[in-house]
Amino acid sequence: MQTINTYNFKGKKALIRVDFNVPLNENFEITDDTRMTAAVPTIKKVIEAGGSPIIMSHFGRPKDGPNDKYSMRHLVSHLSKLLGRDVKLAPDCIGNEVKAMAAALNPGEVLLLENLRFHKEEEKGDEDFAGKLAELGDCWINDAFGTAHRPHASTAIIAKFFPNDKMFGYLVESEVESLDKVMASPVRPLTAIMGGAKISTKITIISNMLNKVDNLIIGGGMIFTFVKAMGGNIGNSLCEDDYLELARTIIEESKKKGINLVIASDCVAADKFANDANTEICSTGNIKDGWLGLDVGPETIKTFEEVIGNSKTILWNGPAGVFEMDAFAAGTKAVGDAIVEATKKGAFSLVGGGDSIAAVNKFGIADGVSYISTAGGAMLETLEGRVLPGIAAVRGE
Ligand code: AMP
Repeated sequence: MQTINTYNFKGKKALIRVDFNVPLNENFEITDDTRMTAAVPTIKKVIEAGGSPIIMSHFGRPKDGPNDKYSMRHLVSHLSKLLGRDVKLAPDCIGNEVKAMAAALNPGEVLLLENLRFHKEEEKGDEDFAGKLAELGDCWINDAFGTAHRPHASTAIIAKFFPNDKMFGYLVESEVESLDKVMASPVRPLTAIMGGAKISTKITIISNMLNKVDNLIIGGGMIFTFVKAMGGNIGNSLCEDDYLELARTIIEESKKKGINLVIASDCVAADKFANDANTEICSTGNIKDGWLGLDVGPETIKTFEEVIGNSKTILWNGPAGVFEMDAFAAGTKAVGDAIVEATKKGAFSLVGGGDSIAAVNKFGIADGVSYISTAGGAMLETLEGRVLPGIAAVRGE
């Protein structure tokens, strides 16, 4: 397999699929350029190695063909600034005029193609369309992890036109390497910490992780579906009654597989869902009528810390409690701190999923974990055990 570090870009036109789907305000100004800055190292690498980057992306959700609102023209000047050089904008992403512009590029010159989704063939994964895109370049780099779970023309189908000239960009490479460290070849013990509100949104991940982990820690609102399934009194705590049977199955499966399933034993119960509620520490299976568990308790925190502290690979997906309210943030903070400590001792830690990232940022511990995946859908599908078309296409699977 080719890699961006070893490929010879000299005199080559490199088609780079990026994710420039950035938010704009009503004046068409970029309000968060994270996705653009994330792709800069890959683009600069091509330039420094003597190639010409031809950048392609989707942008927004145009419905019927070209629409100025979703034109890449809104991004040109910012991209120029980020790269420190002029960026030419193509009037389309395929066609003779664009082909001529691509062919005329000198080494170091940058061409930005117009929005891929102005053609409905992009999302359909149309092979003809992918072929037309492929005509523009000598090689293809996939640096759009956010769309790697979609079998679109530019994210996956195009790979067949570059059997020996396809590779990951730096961003996708680091996502893939980090996820592989957890999912493919974890140093053991491997611990997954699952939290957040509902079991229903995480059940596929939990089921897949049951085939991989040594320890499975359950925190957050989903605790109470497990506790009720075991016959506990959970008061008004969050519970998904449709999932009681599944919770029992997970408990049994864990036993069969010798997995250490850690379900919170005590919690901070509150008389209302509010930061100024009256609270008390009680067993998760012994909550008073009308009260609800909103964070894990001190005994549970100790157990979590012990398990996390002994782990060599850690996946964290979802907060341990309602961390947005200070009264119920201690459990999530303790999980974060324990992960940072374990990471200091040499463990690999991966944080993914919107709310755990919010928690990591709230507690200022982003620098203390090994990797934070911001890819959303693509990362979650990987944790569910699915093969991502955009990754498989590069690997030739
Ligand atoms: P999710 O998007 O499924 O990861 O859920 C994240 C949300 O779960 C956060 O906003 C937390 O406030 C919430 N959460 C965590 N623990 C609990 C709990 N015990 N009861 C209700 N909500 C919770």
